[in-house]
Formats: sequence, structure tokens, C-alpha cells
Amino acid sequence: MRIPDALKTSLLFPRYWNKNRLALPTTELWEALAHLFFPPVCYYCKAPLDSRGRQKLCPKCRESLTLTEAPYCLACSKIDVSLDEETLLCPDCQAKSKRAPLSRVIAGAAYTGLAPHLVSKFKYGNARYLADPLTDIITSHPEFNVLSPYIYALVPVPMHWAKRLIRGYNQAEDLAYELSRRTKIPVVKALKRTRYQSPQASLTREARMSNLGGAFRFDKRYAGYFQRQPKHMITAVIDDVCTTGTTAELCARQLKIAGAKNIILLTVAKT
Ligand SMILES: [Zn+2]
Ligand SMILES: [Zn+2]
Repeated sequence: MRIPDALKTSLLFPRYWNKNRLALPTTELWEALAHLFFPPVCYYCKAPLDSRGRQKLCPKCRESLTLTEAPYCLACSKIDVSLDEETLLCPDCQAKSKRAPLSRVIAGAAYTGLAPHLVSKFKYGNARYLADPLTDIITSHPEFNVLSPYIYALVPVPMHWAKRLIRGYNQAEDLAYELSRRTKIPVVKALKRTRYQSPQASLTREARMSNLGGAFRFDKRYAGYFQRQPKHMITAVIDDVCTTGTTAELCARQLKIAGAKNIILLTVAKT
């Protein structure tokens, strides 16, 4: 018997069932069946999970995350800082120019506890499945649901082609595609990284700026795309972690020149 291709894809990848318009059981039922044979475990520490819940991390891992909750800085999402009573900005953000190309950083968690471990396993440990719980962290930000209907495009921070070849994937792109799958916002790979440079985690903000200067280039194939962006819509740059914000700022600068408006950064964690 010949099995139609649409049916084959549907059976292998339940998330595409709706796409093929087949009247098959829902993803939930498929997952319940799969859980009979492979009981669910925590994505990070592999501890057994309660199969009835839809959590991806065990209670212990979830507890060691510090999710962004009010009060937080309205510009950079930082918690545990003194905020100006009127503007609700932290001292760093108050000092920044209002005309900076990147208007906000929406970070789902603080870069403490489990967050650095999750991110580094995702990035360096070939654990691409962590894009799922990490996207949960981004969307847990108190304002995510308010902002998401206005997001015009998801632009992942690009990786140099040689680095991508070595790692095999760009973690920012994986996050963007997972977000896009959930929200139906398009992923637009409009930026290119033109310079290969060493990791710069230990550098200061100024040193990063000069190290990264000219590292990003706008892909001219998308020239018209951001010029057509309606004024009330948002362009979101996607990255795994925001340290000093330099990378996202440089990306935002290129996007702004190309016509993008209201540029924000969506990220898992803010240091
Ligand atoms: Zn766990
Ligand atoms: Zn701030």
C-alpha cells in the first residue's frame, strides 16, 4: 500500500498535522502516546517529570531561574536595581540617549542560577532541543503577550559563516524559528556577520564596540522589506543573552538605516 507523503509527514512530525489539513488526533494525544513508551524528563537535568503537566523543566530547575517580574527596568528588563520613580528606568538606562537605535531589551530572566547553564548547554553542547524551554523563558516576560501582536519581523543576530560551519547551527536563529512557530511572526535573516572574532565575554563595553565595529552588514535583498514596515509595528532582534547590549545595538543600527522602526531585543537572559 502506498502511503501518501502528506500522511507520512504528519505521522513523523505531529506539529505539521494542521498544515496538511488531515483529520488526525491532536499533538497532545500523540504526545500522550509517546509518553507511554518514553516517560517525560526534564529538558535540562533529565529528572522524571509528571506526565500530566506540560512543563519542560523539573520544579528544581524552574526554581533556580529568576524570571523577570515587576518591578524591572522598562528599558533593559533588569531586576534588582533601583528604578527612577517617574520613568521606571535603571541608572544605566537613564544615562543613555533616547535616540539610541535599540529602544528596549525584553529579557525573560536574569542571567543567574540555571540560566547561564541552560544557555551554555544550548550554545556549546549541541543541545538544540533547549530552544523550546528557552523560548518559554522569553515568552514569560510580563509584556511579551502585549508586544507580540505588533512584531513585524524576528531578526536573529547573525553568526559568521565559518563559526556556523564549526558549530553547525546558530542558536539565535533556533530561538527565532521556535518563536516564529508559536507566534507566526516571520523570521527575516536580514543581517550578515562579516568578521570572525574571538569570544568577547571578558571585554568592557567600549572594547566590545571597537572590536565589533563594522561586524554586521544589512543584506540588500531585504532592502524593501523594512521600508514597508508600518510605523506602529516593532522589529525584534533575537539573541540568546544580552550582556552589555553592544551586539544588539550594532544590529539595530544596521536595521534602522535599512528602514526598520521601533527596534527591540528579545532575549532569554540579561546579565
Ligand atoms: Zn531539571
Ligand atoms: Zn535599564
